[in-house]
Amino acid sequence: MKTPPGHSSPAKPLLEEHAASVFPAAGARGPGPVPGPEAPRRAGHRAVMISFDGVSGTRLTRLLSEPGKLAAGGYARLAERGLLAERMQPPTPSLTAVSHVTLATGALPWQTGIVSNTILDREKPFPATISGFDAPIRAETLWEAARRQGKRVGSVLFPGADGKTPARSADWGMVYVNDPIVAAKLQTPDAAAWNAADSPERGSFSPGRRLTVAFGKTAHSVTFAALDSTDDGRVNYDRLRVEPEAGTPSEVAPGNWFPVEVRGEEGRTGAWCKLLSLAPDLSKAEIYIGGLYRNAAYPEDLRRSLDDRIGFWPGPPNDRVFGAGSAHPEVFLEQAERFSDFLTAADLFAVARSDWDLLVLYQPEVDSVEHEFLLSDPRQEGFSPERSARFQGFIDRIYATADRELDAIERALTPEDSLFVVSDHGMTPVWTDIAFNEVLRQGGFVRRNAEGRVDASSSAMATISGGIAHIYVNASAPAGTLEGIEKLLSGFRVDGESPWDRIVRRADARSLGLDAPESGDLIVLTKPGIVLSARTRAELVGRPQELGAHGYRNAYADIAASLVCAGPGIPHERIGDVRSWDIAARVARALGIAPPKNAATTASR
Ligand SMILES: [Zn+2]
Repeated sequence: MKTPPGHSSPAKPLLEEHAASVFPAAGARGPGPVPGPEAPRRAGHRAVMISFDGVSGTRLTRLLSEPGKLAAGGYARLAERGLLAERMQPPTPSLTAVSHVTLATGALPWQTGIVSNTILDREKPFPATISGFDAPIRAETLWEAARRQGKRVGSVLFPGADGKTPARSADWGMVYVNDPIVAAKLQTPDAAAWNAADSPERGSFSPGRRLTVAFGKTAHSVTFAALDSTDDGRVNYDRLRVEPEAGTPSEVAPGNWFPVEVRGEEGRTGAWCKLLSLAPDLSKAEIYIGGLYRNAAYPEDLRRSLDDRIGFWPGPPNDRVFGAGSAHPEVFLEQAERFSDFLTAADLFAVARSDWDLLVLYQPEVDSVEHEFLLSDPRQEGFSPERSARFQGFIDRIYATADRELDAIERALTPEDSLFVVSDHGMTPVWTDIAFNEVLRQGGFVRRNAEGRVDASSSAMATISGGIAHIYVNASAPAGTLEGIEKLLSGFRVDGESPWDRIVRRADARSLGLDAPESGDLIVLTKPGIVLSARTRAELVGRPQELGAHGYRNAYADIAASLVCAGPGIPHERIGDVRSWDIAARVARALGIAPPKNAATTASR
């Protein structure tokens, strides 16, 4: 990082802890919907809200001031026309599911019920959990409010608008695909793996050799023919012909990416693959076979249109094969850029449709690159100035990618459209990991079953994400369990210091916006730099699996999200701070509708 560590220290609170007194509609128990002074004002205009996950307002502002860093000019052009906030305060915890639901509803976790990325599922026996991306949203969303008021809404991947229930549905939407049909694998065939071909390969000056790779346990496969393109009397293969089940064969050299599509699935289905290396005698090869995926969308004919127009779902970057500790971390970035380009094609396809008044769009790749490569503090494992500079360059590049995607989307809109470019949180470097349920286990509050999971007989369990844990006490736990856990944690030290930022009982969590029935009986937030994990190792304190994290209290500069917006009625100005729970009302205003029922409304802007 260019700024000295002391300057960007994440331990320095920047923002007030939650704004209950300033924004009563969001922070206090108000009398329900707040119409506010900016109720319907204009009609007939369109609005787009796009979230680039993990774009830090602090970093974005710095990159905007450095010539050439955001070369496409998407962010800069929008800021010139409209409003740039240097920081946007996320809710606490600053997590993806929590923050997107706050953006969509204008409400805080105590109103939305989305209090973390993983929550205890009270519909099921203890200690079952539910994802914060799947859990019911208690507050009205922008897409519900817009549709209730006669507007049409489209969604591309926006968290919460996944089409699973009527409340979670836009009029149409593309949905994030988490699980591949077959997981990605790095294939490393040796010479014996290649079969002699029946006949010489066309265009090859060495004997034919072929290799077929199956996609997991499916009937699908892809065949490679080794080619020698040099007529030099030597057996030195230098490329492969790829023969997929569907589509035309192609020739690839080491370093090339190639798509492989399979036949007979419902919808276009394929994998993005890369030839990493190929020994001339085939004694060694590295062929990355990407995860096998297809698109998900509602209604069904939208999926078919996406298949035709933009192809199969490429999937996110692979941190297992191409992570920061791998031999090819730059490939992670190539995957992130491909995924971003694919999603931009989906976004542009959505923009080009005529059947929407509100579009909610989501792109995750800045977040994934920061998690993997945010190496900026000498306390982090593997830190060196050179490695840090290289990895920070990766992060700058993915911000530049987001800027390029934004540029394309902005150009596809008209000046009469309002465009809100938001994010859900920033990111801080992390160097310490605490195996949190193991802390509870060694303290006698958690029991593990044969699979290593928290057993139903446990007195308590914790759901963990980034820097927050919700601790739920089992109804059958003995009296004094909560007090015992508080005592255990208050005495816990890492290198002689308490790692905790806050330890708060649910009833006392109002100032955090977390006094929700969905919250744990006890809420624990770590200091930035420290993450919690569900690891089951005996050592309680270790190194994190990633370099960047979030999920802390919303008071730190590095954790702040970002906002740039422009459109009719949005004045040109640059401001310091805005709050993410004010955005839904602004979007509603641009659309000419009343805000979602629980949305915070402010008297100005
Ligand atoms: Zn996020």
